[in-house]
Amino acid sequence: AKEEGRGTVRFYDPEMDERVRERRALQSALHRALAQGEFRLDYQPVIDLATRRIAGAEALIRWQHPERGLLPPSAFIPLAEDSGFIREIGEWVLHEACTTAAAWPEPAAIAVNLSPLQFRDPKLATRVSDALASSRLAPGRLEVEIVESVMLDTDPVVEQTLRGLRAQGVRIALDDFGTGYSSLSYLRRFPFDKLKIDRSFIRDLGQTQDASAIILAIIGLAQRMNMVVTAEGVETTEQATLLSSFGCAQAQGYLFHRPMSSEAFSRLLAQNPPH
Ligand code: C2E
Ligand code: CA
Ligand code: CA
Ligand code: CA
Repeated sequence: AKEEGRGTVRFYDPEMDERVRERRALQSALHRALAQGEFRLDYQPVIDLATRRIAGAEALIRWQHPERGLLPPSAFIPLAEDSGFIREIGEWVLHEACTTAAAWPEPAAIAVNLSPLQFRDPKLATRVSDALASSRLAPGRLEVEIVESVMLDTDPVVEQTLRGLRAQGVRIALDDFGTGYSSLSYLRRFPFDKLKIDRSFIRDLGQTQDASAIILAIIGLAQRMNMVVTAEGVETTEQATLLSSFGCAQAQGYLFHRPMSSEAFSRLLAQNPPH
């Protein structure tokens, strides 16, 4: 056993060693992946429920790993967040998404997921305006998605950044709404443009009365606070019909489209132009 500071004794654990080695290997693989262009963005269409037309898309990252194949964000985003490398990845995502969306017909919008660490960066608003300028994307067509946990941060930098983004005309969406600890108190602290109702609520829609009650309440609240509501993870026509009847503005989900390559999304837009 090794002495580790005062009073703590840690026993040698070969499995732990193994995990540490694996994490280090994955970390350096992330750096290489960014340098070699192994990340790519897929785009999931966002549907306007009243007209059933495409309003835009959400950019979702994937890693085309040379040996392990196509990896979902859950396989590497948490690790990139731990090490801080998500800042570099996030910067790439922002530029890539804005450049891609600048070629779409107006007014198709692009939604980009930003990690909590990115919101703690005092330069984030500047980074976003740089990405908009270099891609020539109109700020009103960019939406940034923020998860509730960011708001737990009492750091004034976060609120300043959000205000700085809004002042540029960028819209701000609260992602996975309803899954955090104090969703409602965040709404008091900051004027969001959009609420994205988490998939877990949509899943229960049509199954339990409570799910309908909660979704109706969120939509009513959003209307009074001038926020757009997007339902995530819509998989059945029954869910879509109910959401339409509730006055939910937008939806995303496998019922409409799965995430797709930028080429496929451009073709889709050409056939179904936004208005
Ligand atoms: P999210 O932002 O909540 O994204 C929605 C996730 O739900 C996506 O998973 C999408 O493929 C999936 N999805 C969409 N419609 C349906 C449906 O009808 N049914 C089901 N079962 N799933 C659906 P994905 O692409 O694996 O992304 C997972 C998470 O990874 C995202 O959750 C987001 O938090 C994170 N993420 C993705 N791209 C980025 C990125 O560029 N930066 C950061 N920081 N995080 C990202
Ligand atoms: Ca999202
Ligand atoms: Ca979400
Ligand atoms: Ca999520």
